[in-house]
Amino acid sequence: MTASWDICIRGGGLVGRTLALLLSQTPRVRVLLAEQASGATPDVRAYALNEASRTLLSSVGCWPAEPHATPVQTMHVWGDTHGQVRFESPSPLGLTTIVDVPVLEDLLDQAVNQRPNITRQPDPAPATLTIVCEGRQSTSRDQLGVDMERLPYHQHALACRVRTAQPHRQQALQWFSATPHGTDIVALLPLEGPEGSLSAVIWSTSPEHARSLQTRDEAAFYTALQEATHHHLGELSCVSARAVWPLQLQRAHTWCGEFAPGQAWVLAGDAAHGIHPLAGQGLNLGLADVAELARVLARTAANDQWRALNDRHLLRRYERARKADMQATWLACDGLQRLFSHPNASVQSLRNWGLSAFDRCGPVKQWTLQHAMSGQ
Ligand SMILES: Cc1cc2nc3c(=O)[nH]c(=O)nc-3n(C[C@H](O)[C@H](O)[C@H](O)COP(=O)(O)OP(=O)(O)OC[C@H]3O[C@@H](n4cnc5c(N)ncnc54)[C@H](O)[C@@H]3O)c2cc1C
Repeated sequence: MTASWDICIRGGGLVGRTLALLLSQTPRVRVLLAEQASGATPDVRAYALNEASRTLLSSVGCWPAEPHATPVQTMHVWGDTHGQVRFESPSPLGLTTIVDVPVLEDLLDQAVNQRPNITRQPDPAPATLTIVCEGRQSTSRDQLGVDMERLPYHQHALACRVRTAQPHRQQALQWFSATPHGTDIVALLPLEGPEGSLSAVIWSTSPEHARSLQTRDEAAFYTALQEATHHHLGELSCVSARAVWPLQLQRAHTWCGEFAPGQAWVLAGDAAHGIHPLAGQGLNLGLADVAELARVLARTAANDQWRALNDRHLLRRYERARKADMQATWLACDGLQRLFSHPNASVQSLRNWGLSAFDRCGPVKQWTLQHAMSGQ
């Protein structure tokens, strides 16, 4: 079958929509966005997005305004005994920004509707380049026979939103704690701007405990959450449903290839990689894929040496760049999760000592901070 489109993006999540907007900035490129109607209830999550993501989303006019984007001025992480580390933002822009997911989805949706060279329809069609952005359960990727490296964490993440008695004062708070069912990681992320008292909750725990937390009555759930967050922001009250996601580390061995002569495919976002949400990096990495793919495809156009969009060398260049960039984040997130899941008592003591030592170690802490904020 001959290609009827220049680009077909499969999957209209945050990565697919951002990519469609960026690639459609080249006037002669016709983009098909193949997406299924979600029909789901609004996402209760809020994402921590870094400076690189803010720059990219602003470039397509979709960075949410306050109070839908809340800069984090203080980040405080507690280990399971005495260890802790605290970061203060050197600027009003914050260490990271907590973005309301449904608001971001709406902004991208409206922006896509306004682009004349993007067509939206449920089914994919042959294209010179197909970009698979179907998330971690991608069926297209599986049909292409892409090998995935998968490491289940045996953890689920429960997410919801809570109103707190005390304002969050732009603090992101995270607790690692040893429990009878393994290591739990609970985070409270500030929402509704600097004066807000609304927080997004992410609670990573065993699958059984996550399901039990999800189905408990409200009073029992909030008692458990209040204990897990050490009553840090006072009384909590319910403002959303509770949703649960299974967690696993995964990455694709191959990120690009050919469907048929003249028709290439490439992976982006969660279809290519997935990490633990404890560091709030999954979408940041997906948006970095978007930026790199657009850069690689545009560079030749700008030089007026228009190589075809299915050029194998270009796509391999994208794959190499993204794999190299992701390695550090991947290892850091996985290492941290495994360190805190270790059952051995001396490892438990060492990791808490490590957190406090890290907190006192100015230059290392400063370097980590810069790296995490910029996303580079
Ligand atoms: C609890 C939790 C908290 C998180 N917090 C953060 C955070 O703070 N910061 C951060 O950066 N990241 C975070 N992440 C990661 C983030 O959610 C993902 O990295 C991001 O949503 C990936 O976007 P995506 O567009 O690649 O995939 P998805 O969001 O999964 O979107 C894929 C889209 O493709 C569609 N689709 C699937 N199959 C098909 C098909 N066959 N045809 C057409 N369409 C299809 C789906 O319906 C969906 O719309 C978190 C994840 C979890 C689970």
